[in-house]
Amino acid sequence: MTPGAPLGAAELRRRVDRLWTSVEEAGGSRDAVTLVAVTKGFDVAVAELAASCDLSDLGENYAQELLAKAPVLAAGPHPVRWHAIGRLQRNKVRQLAPVVHLWQTVDRLELATEIARRAPGARVLVQVNTSGEPAKGGIDPTGAPDLVRAAADLGLAVEGLMTVGRTGPPESARPGFTALSTLADRLGLVVRCMGMSGDVAVAVQEGATMVRIGSALFGPRPARPPDR
Ligand SMILES: *Cc1c(COP(=O)(O)O)cnc(C)c1O
Repeated sequence: MTPGAPLGAAELRRRVDRLWTSVEEAGGSRDAVTLVAVTKGFDVAVAELAASCDLSDLGENYAQELLAKAPVLAAGPHPVRWHAIGRLQRNKVRQLAPVVHLWQTVDRLELATEIARRAPGARVLVQVNTSGEPAKGGIDPTGAPDLVRAAADLGLAVEGLMTVGRTGPPESARPGFTALSTLADRLGLVVRCMGMSGDVAVAVQEGATMVRIGSALFGPRPARPPDR
């Protein structure tokens, strides 16, 4: 692709194929792993392109961005499922409730409570901080079982756990990914959402059933405006 040229469908499909090849080389498969394409920071046209290339699960970090893109795609020919993957303020839940398919970042009881109130029975993942890095968000692993139980008691469909890998070379994320899989096993949860562009192979080796991929599909993200 020419630098600066907009991403086209043919190139995106090549990148998706390349991604699946690396997932398969790591022991995963298209049946066992759900690909969430992360469109945060990109124009809605990129999300529409993704949808037209059969990427039907899209992830966004910021409520305003998700709320701006969702109606555009809902009106188009390729409906998608939206995944909320960013740190979430409780006061954003009401607006997001009608459009979010999977709330991936439940990290505290007050957030679970608000989701249960605004979207009864919603699908959620409990985000676990497996890296010890405060910037990564998520509840401490020792607190996760109680939060999983509490969210289920609120009537939420707790499908699994989510984590963000430690920053650094891909191998540095492995212990956290192993810990997430072990914890999910212990709690009887099916979904392990872990792995991004840089550490997807390690995540799949450690049992990821869902991965969140942005830059490997869409290229480097445009700089984020300072006001969000
Ligand atoms: C941005 C982001 C991603 C995608 O990251 P890439 O490195 O571009 O693949 C995945 N998960 C979360 C939580 C993110 O914030």
